[in-house]
Parts: sequence; structure tokens; C-alpha cells
Amino acid sequence: MTTAAVIDPDLEPVDQLGDRLKAILADIRDEYLQPHLTPWILGFSGGKDSTLLAQLVCEMLLSLPPRKRRRAVHIVANDTLVESPVIAHHLDMVLERMRQAVEPLRLPIAVAKTIPDVEQTFWVNLIGRGYPSPSRVFRWCTDRMKIAPTTTYIKTQVDESGQAILLLGVRSAESTQRRRSVIRYDNGRRLNPHNSLQNCLVYKPIVDLSTDEVWQTLLQSSPPWGGTHRALVTMYRNAGGGECPLVTDKSEAPSCGTASSRFGCWTCTVVEKDKSAESFIEAGYGDLEPLLEFRDWLKAIREDGSKRMAKRRNGTLNFVGEGRLIPDPFTLTARREIFDRLIAVQSEVNMQLVSPAEIDVIRRIWAEDTIAMTKF
Ligand code: SF4
Repeated sequence: MTTAAVIDPDLEPVDQLGDRLKAILADIRDEYLQPHLTPWILGFSGGKDSTLLAQLVCEMLLSLPPRKRRRAVHIVANDTLVESPVIAHHLDMVLERMRQAVEPLRLPIAVAKTIPDVEQTFWVNLIGRGYPSPSRVFRWCTDRMKIAPTTTYIKTQVDESGQAILLLGVRSAESTQRRRSVIRYDNGRRLNPHNSLQNCLVYKPIVDLSTDEVWQTLLQSSPPWGGTHRALVTMYRNAGGGECPLVTDKSEAPSCGTASSRFGCWTCTVVEKDKSAESFIEAGYGDLEPLLEFRDWLKAIREDGSKRMAKRRNGTLNFVGEGRLIPDPFTLTARREIFDRLIAVQSEVNMQLVSPAEIDVIRRIWAEDTIAMTKF
């Protein structure tokens, strides 16, 4: 497997976007044609960067005769099950288009969507176990809802093939945080070892493109899986900003649930305000209003000591500093109140917000906690 540098430092810089894209496509093609069958796993969030990356990979595959399309490419999205409904709808629509294009175009692509384990969903942890709504100091959600499901998928591929290459649409120009992370993990070669996953190499083909170049390319082209990028452009315009990327390790997690990552979960209480939901509502998505109100309420009750237990679920007290008692999980009464409100919102907006399987787990945990509490 090659680990050659992407760009020869002796070459003149290539300024024209067309030439830059040609160079990126040539690089992707060169990596794909290496003499081994290590699968590619492309992290797809449905946002502009991973959409462009998926498009370039498909274009590269289509430029090859079918007999040379020998390595498997997995396009993998993650659904936290509490994604903003607008984003979730867009993601499902694009994934379905991709699935339908694979066979007629003879592409060696598997399209997959990962979800959290039912024991670790947002509602099971918040309503079942009573975890306080996530905050900067206790952001329990990213690991359980994003990193773990994607990691399981990648590990399965590594176990089957001995190694996997993860293609990410990250770009240095995305944010200062991203630039730092790119520099920290860049060994100056095309493939970098993944920060935490063994036998997984990371490949970032569009790392040097600017945001304008990404938009320009998308606006001037159509996706090989059919349709146009119009829905994507409209979604960004309505949301007024960034996206919550596909997260595969903790070093990338700081961008999840921040003001710059507005395409996150509709339940995200890490951000002060959900600006993307506000923008969508202004753009006419009235259905989101009850969801936004519910999110605001979830954030507010985190601060209400009367709704929090003084003890942890295992019966221990939680002190910090000079003996200051930290409230722990939501009380069982508060958990039931959150559940009842959630069911009411679910009926109001007429969309499934919590699944029957999650409700079963929530009821089981409540029963276990009720028994445990009698022993404290
Ligand atoms: S968007 Fe917010 S709630 Fe969702 S995983 Fe990220 S930090 Fe957690």
C-alpha cells in the first residue's frame, strides 16, 4: 500500500479550480488502483463536503472500466435517531438515490446507515437513566450516538479485511479547530493512521479545498446518483450555516454541538440556542416549532435542582471542590414528566420521535431503578 505524499512539493501550485479537481481525482484514482483490496469507508453526513467527496469517488469509479472497480467502497452515514428532521429527510433521500444508482452504474458501492444501540440512544439515557440533558461539561451523547456506531462498522470491515481506509471530507478551511486537528494528525503522507482505530488509515482527498471551491463545484455539477444539488443548497440557505460532521473519534468531537455545527441533533442542549432550527422555522418549517420549544425546556430543566436526584443511580453522592453536592440524574418523577411531554409533542408533530423499542428499554430501566432506590 502506498503512503506517498499527495503533492510533489517541487511542482508549481495549481490555481485553477478545474485543475485542482483534476489533481484530486487523479490522486483518488491512484490510491484506488493500488495493488490490494483494502476496502474504503466513506464517512457521509449528507453535508456539502462529504457530498462532494462521494461525488468525486463515484466519478473516479465511473472513469474506470468495470473490471478495474475491484475494491469495495462503503458509503456510511450515521443517524443519531434525534437528527433534525429536515436533515434526516435529506440524508435518507440521498442514500436511497445512491442505493438505486449502484446497480445500473455497476459501482462496487455499499450504502449503509448506522444507528446507536437501543441501550444507548438519546431518550434511553435521558428519560430512562435520567442523564441530565447534555452540556459542555457532561456531553455524554457524541460517544454513544455517533462515535460508537461508526466505530463498530469500521471495526467489522477491519476484522473482515485486515485493514480499512476511511475517506473523510474534512477540510482545513472549515474551522480553526479542524485546521488544528488536520495538522496534528497529518504525517505529510496521503494516508494517516486513524487516531484511535487500529488498522484503519485516514484519507482526506479534499482537505485543501476552500468552502467557495466546494460550493462552486457542487453548483456547477450534478451528482452521479441522479437528481441535483438544489435541495442541499436550499437546506444550507435555510439553516444559515454549518453542519455537524460524521464523527469517528474524540479529536473531532469538539465540533459536534457547537455554534459552528448547526446541522446537529434537534435535541442538542450543548448549544445555547439552536440557530439552525430557528432559521428553518423562519423559512417556513413550522413543524419544527414544538421541537424547538421542547429542546429549550429540556435545557432549562437541567438547571432545576428539584428535578435532579442528590445521589447517583448507584446510590453514591457526587461532591466536587469543597464538599459541594452536584445534583445527579433526573428524578424518576422528572423522567416521567419528560416522557409524557415527548409523547405529546410526538402526537402534535405527527412524526415518530421515540421508538417502541426505546420505550421498552426506558420502562425496564425505570423498574430497575425503582427497585434499586428502595435499597439506598
Ligand atoms: S449534536 Fe449535540 S446532542 Fe447531538 S451528538 Fe452532537 S453534542 Fe450531542
